Amino acid sequence: MKAIISEVNKLRVTYNKEIKNLNNETLKKLSKDIRKNKILNNLKCSQYLLDDIECMIVDNSLNLNKTKLHINASECNFIFSIFNAPYTPSLGVEAFYFEKIQVDEVLHKYQTNVLPILIKEASKGFFSAHTVALFPENHISGEQLIGDKIFYFVNKFALRHANTTQKILKKMVTSSSFNKLKAISYQEIESAVVYWVWLHEYHHQTQGFLPIPKYLKLKSIKILAGLEELRVDLGSMLLCVESYSTMGNMSEFVFQFILSERLLRYGTDGVQFNINGSENPSYDALSSYMFFNYLIENNGISIQNNKIHLNDNLINVLKELLQKIYAIEALISTKSETEVKEELLNFSHKLLCSKNEKLISANIYYKYLRHTIL
Ligand SMILES: [Zn+2]
Repeated sequence: MKAIISEVNKLRVTYNKEIKNLNNETLKKLSKDIRKNKILNNLKCSQYLLDDIECMIVDNSLNLNKTKLHINASECNFIFSIFNAPYTPSLGVEAFYFEKIQVDEVLHKYQTNVLPILIKEASKGFFSAHTVALFPENHISGEQLIGDKIFYFVNKFALRHANTTQKILKKMVTSSSFNKLKAISYQEIESAVVYWVWLHEYHHQTQGFLPIPKYLKLKSIKILAGLEELRVDLGSMLLCVESYSTMGNMSEFVFQFILSERLLRYGTDGVQFNINGSENPSYDALSSYMFFNYLIENNGISIQNNKIHLNDNLINVLKELLQKIYAIEALISTKSETEVKEELLNFSHKLLCSKNEKLISANIYYKYLRHTIL
């Protein structure tokens, strides 16, 4: 395993700087390098990739049909492909080994293409703590087709929760809030992640009026991507609340887990800083900001001695917020995509720019959180 990954790491050094402008000459060179590499050339996945590269050269296109077909068939535990993802610039020619995770029976009725996995060994492009998933549109072909598998790296999600979210929970929430998450084991974190990513993708793909991948393009600008992340996690949290009879103990536990990640962590560790010191929040961080502002203005949470407190009517506030988003999405039956996009943008901007001067706003609170935690 290690030897194969090390060979892929060597290819990265040569080719990743060319990923944004792959031309036929580079593709031919890459193909030659894979073929003459004794370790890589023997792999079945390499053969699919080589066939695809050949097609790309002939058609002057960026298709990875055989590679993706192989991945979607879930035949092996190794992925080898060429990636180009705007939100994950470290990706290029990459590979990883993984182990599939058994999913609890109760989740099977929620249809999704998600594959929760444990990453076993990966090339350097996947090292960043923020690279926790592989989406079909991350391959250079850049598209997500219905049925394409989505990989979530459960052990990387779990580590982020253990290293960051748990710190926030210890220092920055009141003693009666998030009680199910205090003192949990690493194994429990992993099982909560499996529920989260499963329900998350289920909501992206099948719930609401503008599901993904059909409306991926409409939702691809950063602020709308943030709103979409918020929408699906709201749906997942509320599904947990409503599924107590089937989920039992997991219901409240997973609810609090998703809430902690969406509300507390992304706004804290999802922000990078430009050279001049200005904030550059990820779309996930924007979703935390919007979420925080809405919850505080509608009394779903409050700040007590600088700590976040979950108020008794939190669930009603979550329901209201989700209904508002769905109401805008539903306009698609009478309005054009451009008009609905405009409405979603207005709504998101309002959530981001809290105007209530009596209450603390998200940018100020998360700045404080980052200062205390990171
Ligand atoms: Zn998502």
